[in-house]
Amino acid sequence: MSLVIGVTGGIGSGKTAVTDYFAALGIAIVDADQAARVVVEPGQPALEKIAQRHKGILQKEDGSLNRRKLRDIIFASDSERAWLEQLLHPLIREQIMTELKASVSPYSILVSPLMIETDQHLLADRVLVVDVTVEQQIARTMSRDNMTEAQTRSILSKQATREERMEKADDIVDNSQSLEQLYPQLDKLHQHYLKLAKQR
Ligand code: ATP
Repeated sequence: MSLVIGVTGGIGSGKTAVTDYFAALGIAIVDADQAARVVVEPGQPALEKIAQRHKGILQKEDGSLNRRKLRDIIFASDSERAWLEQLLHPLIREQIMTELKASVSPYSILVSPLMIETDQHLLADRVLVVDVTVEQQIARTMSRDNMTEAQTRSILSKQATREERMEKADDIVDNSQSLEQLYPQLDKLHQHYLKLAKQR
């Protein structure tokens, strides 16, 4: 398996902006959010377990998961959240590993909004944190998703803090300025990662 760089950052910090840039340089991107969707696709054993526990959680039309309903359930109950996490986290990790092993680029990126919170940083050789101020996170998320400040702050409060993320960081990219100021930092990191990948 090639060198794995874990990219994380809070909501609206610019993870997608960062990974889009690396993808354009030919680097494989494995997305933990996407892996989390794959493990509950129709036909997957985890979906059956969820459907047994929560009757009426499948959409009538196509048997897919009603994510909104599930989100409401785990938002209201810590024990249901814990049950779901113990079911899904190992499966998500397995899915991520399968995708990372299939990667053929010189190094690979694993992007996850909850990397630190779910211990997915253990799957990466290095962690790159996309850093912005909380105020910027809120402003960018509100304008992208048309959310209120209260909604944005509520999501933020469930994520690791900026300081907790920094503690796990091997590399930090500052996305508090324009994209024009972001990209040269990524070029530099790309060169660094290529070198590290070669040394392995
Ligand atoms: P989430 O975890 O919520 O998916 P994210 O970390 O992937 O968010 P992005 O979607 O990349 O964040 O960025 C959030 C918003 O801010 C987007 O609308 C994006 O276009 C914008 N944005 C990102 N970086 C910058 C920047 N340097 N200057 C201005 N806008 C930016």
